[in-house]
Amino acid sequence: MEQIAAGIHQVSKGVNAFIIDGDEGVVLIDTGLPRRHGAIIDGIGSIGRTPDDIRVIVITHGHADHTGGAAALKRASGASLIASEIDAPIVRGDRTASAPPILDFPILRGLVRLVPEAEGSVVDDAVTQGPVPGVSDLTVVATPGHTEGHISLLLDRNGGVLFAGDSALATRGGGIQRGFMNRKTATFDSSLRTMAGLDFEIACFGHSSAITGGAAGAFRAFVGSI
Ligand SMILES: [Zn+2]
Repeated sequence: MEQIAAGIHQVSKGVNAFIIDGDEGVVLIDTGLPRRHGAIIDGIGSIGRTPDDIRVIVITHGHADHTGGAAALKRASGASLIASEIDAPIVRGDRTASAPPILDFPILRGLVRLVPEAEGSVVDDAVTQGPVPGVSDLTVVATPGHTEGHISLLLDRNGGVLFAGDSALATRGGGIQRGFMNRKTATFDSSLRTMAGLDFEIACFGHSSAITGGAAGAFRAFVGSI
């Protein structure tokens, strides 16, 4: 587990999930691959917390590498689970997720098929835009494109922390790119502009390292170039 900033921890087990530790308890952003939630439980233990301390779990979108531990972690904690209105049926297991828009690449197509299906979970609140119920300084921002119902989260701590899910990736140099799992579409690029218009110092991603300073500026530089 890697500490990104005070109270913000990244668990990387093939994909990144995030533990936010605050006075009022623990919030999870995404839940990793199916059957890998033990890494998140271990991470929570390593900061002196227990699964009982998890109050809210937010899912950025309905792909199995983000929803994989949702049902198990909700069972272990009793936390309330939040997903967007559009992706909630996928998280519940009522609808199959759309494939990530990367299937032009045969190798990636093969890898995606290796991810087991996620167990469906109850969704307590469907939120596509606005405050996260129960967490006063966490806001849902609609960022469709990677999936139709993709959401990002803005945390008003540490100068602002954006959890961008699969809505972008950091480059090795700390810039922004669409990422291997996104195509250039009007919807997707509009979401990049939405994120560039927010105020945050730190950005966290599902499939790359975090940017730990001046992150909104990196988004602005990228959208200025597209
Ligand atoms: Zn995804």
